[in-house]
Amino acid sequence: MMEGDTVKVAIIGAGASGLMLSRILTEMNISYTLFERKKAGRKLLASGNGRCNISNINIDSNSYLNNSFAYNLVKNNQKELFDLFKKLNIYTYSDNEGRLYPISESSQSVYNILTEKINNIEYITINEINKINNKYYLNKIYGPFDYVAITIGSNASINEEYSYNLLDNIGVNYNEFRPSLVGFKLKEKTKEISGVRQKCLIKLLDNNKIIYSEKGEIIFKNDGISGICIMNASAFYNHYPNKKNILLSIDFLNGIKYNSLSSVLKPDLLNYINKYNLDPTNLIFNIIDTYDIKNAQVGYGGISLNEVNNDLSFKKDNNIYFGGEVLDCDGVCGGYNLMLAFCSAIVISRSIYEISNK
Ligand SMILES: Cc1cc2nc3c(=O)[nH]c(=O)nc-3n(C[C@H](O)[C@H](O)[C@H](O)COP(=O)(O)OP(=O)(O)OC[C@H]3O[C@@H](n4cnc5c(N)ncnc54)[C@H](O)[C@@H]3O)c2cc1C
Repeated sequence: MMEGDTVKVAIIGAGASGLMLSRILTEMNISYTLFERKKAGRKLLASGNGRCNISNINIDSNSYLNNSFAYNLVKNNQKELFDLFKKLNIYTYSDNEGRLYPISESSQSVYNILTEKINNIEYITINEINKINNKYYLNKIYGPFDYVAITIGSNASINEEYSYNLLDNIGVNYNEFRPSLVGFKLKEKTKEISGVRQKCLIKLLDNNKIIYSEKGEIIFKNDGISGICIMNASAFYNHYPNKKNILLSIDFLNGIKYNSLSSVLKPDLLNYINKYNLDPTNLIFNIIDTYDIKNAQVGYGGISLNEVNNDLSFKKDNNIYFGGEVLDCDGVCGGYNLMLAFCSAIVISRSIYEISNK
């Protein structure tokens, strides 16, 4: 850029990633327009049941299901993110599993902070980007822009048509989104215990071999099962190559011997176990599949990581960036997906700032 030129950025998608990017660009005094097809911050507002589990102080390779790109992206920017929270007056606390929440325990308060300085938002779906004389024009109307950040998320948890015309239009390779962090549909009927919640140890078995285990609370549904440990197991399951014949084993007693189970198990669950003569330390269910993407908290799939540089710019056109869930990265429960969306915003803003100040 020449001295005196004002950089203009188009941010497509006002979710966690796009909102954080807008807020950082505001702090950097970089001009932008934010484009949103429907409702800004919808998933951010729904996160953590409205309590907003915004990040996690712990991270290891399992946090992003062995996706080293996602792990490095977050690991290298986690400290900067936590400093940024402080700078933005997003004060947090962490629970004993490292999950970070705003002290308000309100996603609305985080949304309010991210949006308080946004004054340039257009409610429209962007389907097309054209490049003319090194400047970008969106839907042939909006522009010129020097940079475009695409933070359009996935169709997880969305009960309507969701189009990826924009990605087709710019010619980037992406994989279809599939559900991650979702419940399992089970072959056995669970209607009798629908709504029952119980703490337990779950295991996924492939030919009697334990391929996944986690402790946590499960919730039975009419035809399946959910809960945080189940959602994490579903993410593992969906990345697992051979899904045939995977069984779910549930241990409600966790190694402890009780003379009576009356005060240990919820009454409906105890009746169910007694009625069908089941083993409370090894209740076996056949997994049919996970529930579909509209029931999932996160989608896995999206823009192939070999299409992007480490600064999240598009290899075929370095002035276009991708951030958040639209990338082929997904994390387990515990704040990892918002942390990825926010860290993407940090990386994109840093790259734009450095290039435009050269
Ligand atoms: C119920 C629920 C609870 C969750 N809880 C947590 C939690 O506690 N912790 C956690 O870490 N994660 C949680 N997640 C996941 C997390 O919210 C998402 O991973 C994160 O919001 C993704 O951010 P994003 O900015 O990449 O995408 P999104 O938040 O999905 O934002 C994308 C935005 O782009 C817009 N858009 C799409 N296409 C276009 C277009 N062509 N033109 C213009 N705009 C477009 C969309 O309308 C949307 O507003 C939860 C998700 C759900 C659904």
